[in-house]
Amino acid sequence: MIQRRVGIMGGTFDPIHIGHLILGESAWEQFHLDKVLFMPSGNPPHKTQRRGASNEQRVEMVKRAIRSNDHFELSTAEMHEQGYVYTKETLKRLHAEHPDTEYYFIMGADSLLTFDTWMSPQEICDQCILIAAVRDQMSTAELDQAIVKMRAQYHADIRKLESPNLDISSHTIRNRCLRGESIRYYVPDAVREYIQNEGIYGNQQST
Ligand code: ATP
Ligand code: MG
Repeated sequence: MIQRRVGIMGGTFDPIHIGHLILGESAWEQFHLDKVLFMPSGNPPHKTQRRGASNEQRVEMVKRAIRSNDHFELSTAEMHEQGYVYTKETLKRLHAEHPDTEYYFIMGADSLLTFDTWMSPQEICDQCILIAAVRDQMSTAELDQAIVKMRAQYHADIRKLESPNLDISSHTIRNRCLRGESIRYYVPDAVREYIQNEGIYGNQQST
């Protein structure tokens, strides 16, 4: 019997920003989740030769960002020194450990569009409910279309998240740091201070 609903926010979080946080909070609220796990990925296959924050720094930024939220939790289930952990394996493990829990995998529209290229998309769909949110320039109509396709292709249980479309990405934040521009309000203050103190993304005297 399902007794708990848990959201999973996977990502590189390089760095974590308010787009991720609002996505997680919207999912928690709209789908009556008990909690949301923020799960930084170790070394995602589509982001090889990544520069930027170290694994430890990405984890630390997530910790700082979610500290004040009782229903947000860090999970290092996908954080491994060597290589990456596939989402299907993570889900399998979580189900074995918590058979009473239903998992909701939360993602932005861009992730949905590349879902076909993930390892074993069918097995992922079989093991969780997907929550999809609009992002950037994608229209709601396009997102609806992608959702219909996912249902047809994988018999996915996929739901649409009503959330604000915040045009913000980690990439933008890294570039702003490099140019010495302010990232205030793009990330929580505790994350901004950490980025600054550790000098993570290069030149950032005015952040
Ligand atoms: P990068 O620019 O490095 O790709 P990112 O901002 O896309 O970083 P990720 O860690 O790649 O962040 O994203 C993790 C998840 O959060 C993905 O499913 C992504 O679609 C979603 N996401 C990130 N930012 C937003 C946003 N502003 N609105 C909606 N979803 C978002
Ligand atoms: Mg991304």
